[in-house]
This record gives sequence, structure tokens and C-alpha cells, in this order.
Amino acid sequence: MTNLGFVGLGIMGKPMAGHLAAAGHTVHVFNRTPKTAQELGTKNFVVCKSSREVAEKSDVVFTMVSDTPDVEKVIFGPEGLFDGLKHSSVVIDMSTISPVATKDFAKRLSARKVHMLDAPVSGGQAGAEQATLSIMVGGEAPVFERVKPYFDLMGKNVIYIGTNGAGQTCKLANQILVAATLEGVSEALVFASKAGVDPSKVRQALLGGAAQSRILDVHGKRMIDRNFVPGFKISLQQKDLNLVLQTARSMGVSVPSTAIAQEFYNSLAGQGCGDLDNSALVQVLEKLAGKIVEE
Ligand code: NAP
Repeated sequence: MTNLGFVGLGIMGKPMAGHLAAAGHTVHVFNRTPKTAQELGTKNFVVCKSSREVAEKSDVVFTMVSDTPDVEKVIFGPEGLFDGLKHSSVVIDMSTISPVATKDFAKRLSARKVHMLDAPVSGGQAGAEQATLSIMVGGEAPVFERVKPYFDLMGKNVIYIGTNGAGQTCKLANQILVAATLEGVSEALVFASKAGVDPSKVRQALLGGAAQSRILDVHGKRMIDRNFVPGFKISLQQKDLNLVLQTARSMGVSVPSTAIAQEFYNSLAGQGCGDLDNSALVQVLEKLAGKIVEE
């Protein structure tokens, strides 16, 4: 069996690596905070001392860290993957990062005869835990075909989008929709609550109609239950919306609803709420309306 590597065992990475190990693959893992890796139970995990050691022992390496500079550090930084990668090995970055930087990373790796795919995901913590993620992939099509069986262990909707960076562009389009829908769900539930109507009944009714969405289902429930434990942290959502705004600006594309959502998130982060789940967006609209969403 191919030796696999996995760097970044956070909310998403830990269960994703777990599915690869549970399928019988040997997974060489590294996490910046060592305790997380040491806590892994499955016998198929091999805990490494650095990203470089992961690369030396693996043919296919997955990265699932926070932001663009973090991916760069994991690949090209001291004790990074770059120094240990074998010829013809594959680096698969599943983090959400800049499409422009992704193209640059792929080019730098190809100089070493290493392939790179960008394979960001959607579906959240539950999707990672239940192996039902949507995975959107950029890079060379034959490389995608070679590693697709691993994606199938982590996701249900695995789509080849196009060349390097295309997966990240697709993910940013996803984030435009997620932010706009979260804003819409927040507005609808605050509106109903202020009118004296039970928001949980409103959510239940709307889930069967034209306004049905996963965000209304999962995040709408979080808003009503006042459950803002992440999930997907506001700090990461801000990172994604910044990527959307920068990329859109560089192309001359107007994304007004993303800009408004980002202003709301900036307000929450300024109040020290950066580690709350992104569904806490409702709290800004609650303050504006002077009404909390409650049953
Ligand atoms: P998380 O729980 O905060 O975990 C981040 C992971 O990255 C941790 O293992 C962290 O190590 C590691 N890391 C961060 N900076 C690093 C660096 N400079 N060097 C080495 N390791 C570093 O985040 P997450 O929710 O799993 O998200 C990971 C990625 O998936 C992000 O790009 C996010 O946007 C994307 N994503 C998340 C979700 C979601 O619902 N959570 C959904 C789709 C996509 P430590 O343990 O040492 O901090």
C-alpha cells in the first residue's frame, strides 16, 4: 500500500486522517502542537517529528492547516516537506488558501519533480467526521485520477475542477454563497423573533420550501440553540472572505454581499469573538435589531 502523510490535525485534519488510517493505510502524521498527534489512537498512524520526516516516509502527503503563510511554511519552511519529498510524490493541500499562491507553490514543487493538487473542502466538521465532504480539486488530471481513491475515503462529492488553483477558486465561490446565506438566515430568524414568532417553527417550515438550505438547517439550529462552539471559526471565515475580496478586486468583480458579511465578522473579531463558530454572525444582527433569536 502507498505510504501516506498528513500534516495538520485540527478540527478538520484529525478526522480526515483518521479515515485514511481506518481504511488500512499507514499514515505518517505531524502536528505543530505535538500533543494532538500523540493522542491519535489508531494503530496505522506513525507520529513524525517534522513535516520533513513525513515527506521522507510518504508518497502522497496531505496538508490541512490554517492559512496561505502556514501552507508555505509547512512545505518550504525549515524542516518542511520540500527537503524530504521524493521524486513523483504528490502534495495535496486541502486547506483553504490563495489560488494565486497555490499556483506558485505548484510551480516551485514541479521544479523538484513533485506534483501538487489543491483540494479544498466544504461540508464542515460534520462532513469531515462522516467522510461526506465535497472536495474540489485543481492540478493535473492524471495525478487527480491516481489519488482519487484517497479522496473517496474522505468525501462523497469529489470533483476535478481544472488546473492548479482552480480548486481554490471553486472554494472561494463556495464561501461567497456560505457568507451570503448565513447573513440571510440570520436576518430571517432575527426578523421572525422580533415579530414575536417562534424561530424554531420558522426554521422547520422554511426547511421544506424554496428557502431550504444546509446553512438554514445546521447554522440556523446553532443560532436558535445559542451554540457557537466551532465548527468553523470566525477567524478562518475572515481569512476566506479576505481571499474572496482580494481576488475579486484584482479581477474587477463586485461582491457586495461578501463585503458586508466581512464587515460583520470584523465587528465580531473586534469584540474578541474570533474563535466562535461563523454562525455567531447572527449576534451582530441581533444587536442592530435589539432582539435575540430565541424560542
Ligand atoms: P483548526 O482546527 O484551527 O486547525 C488548524 C491546523 O493547522 C492545526 O493542526 C494547526 O496546528 C495547524 N497549523 C496552523 N498553522 C500552522 C503552521 N504555521 N505550521 C504548522 N501547522 C499549522 O482549523 P480547521 O477548522 O481544521 O481548518 C483547517 C483548514 O480547513 C483551514 O484552511 C479552513 O479554512 C479549512 N476548512 C475548515 C472547515 C471547518 O468547518 N472547520 C471547513 C472547510 C474548510 P496546531 O494544532 O499546532 O495549532
